[in-house]
Amino acid sequence: MKEEKKQVKKSVFRRLLRGLFFFAIIVFILGFLIPEDIQMPVQGASKNDYNAQSFWAYPWGKSVTHKGVDIFAKKGTAIKPATYGIVLYTGTLGIGGNVVCILSPKWKIHYYAHMQETKTSILSFVNQSTVIGTVGDSGNAKGKPLHLHYGVWTAIPYPWLYDDDAIQGWKKMFFLDPIKAIEHRD
Ligand SMILES: [Zn+2]
Repeated sequence: MKEEKKQVKKSVFRRLLRGLFFFAIIVFILGFLIPEDIQMPVQGASKNDYNAQSFWAYPWGKSVTHKGVDIFAKKGTAIKPATYGIVLYTGTLGIGGNVVCILSPKWKIHYYAHMQETKTSILSFVNQSTVIGTVGDSGNAKGKPLHLHYGVWTAIPYPWLYDDDAIQGWKKMFFLDPIKAIEHRD
C-alpha cells in the first residue's frame, strides 16, 4: 500500500512539473508573438535630436561603449515609453541616475535614464501615452547637454549580432540599437 501511494505521489509530481514546463514554454513563445509598436519616447523629438551613429560609440566613459542613444530635449520634456510593458524598476541606478526599466514584448527591456524625475511605480502597466518621467541630467549626465539615454536590452541573446570587430562586440547580442527600431517605424 505504502509503495503504491509513493508511486501515485511521484506521478502527480511529475505531471505537475511537466505542466509547469509547458506553461513556461507557452508564456515564452507568447512573449515573442505579442506585437511591439515602437514610438519616439521623447515627446516632440525628431531625427534632429539624436545622432543615429552614436550607438556603440567608443570610448564612452565608464560604459566603454555607448549602449543606447541619447535623445536631446529641454529639461522637463515628457518621456513616454517606446512600447508598452510592465515597469520592472524605477528609482536611482548608478551612472543612469533616475531610471525606468520596462519589460516589453519580445522579452526586451527598455531602459530610460538621466531623468529629472520618474513618474511611475514598479509593476505598473504602461503604454505609449503614459508619462513615465521627464528629461533631466541625473546620474553621470550632470553638466552635459540635457538628454534621455534610451537603451534596449534583450533577455534572450541574439547570436547573429555577435560582432568580432567591435569593442565589447559580444555584448551586442544583448544591447540592441534602439534607433533602428524607431526609424523603421517613421
Ligand atoms: Zn547615452
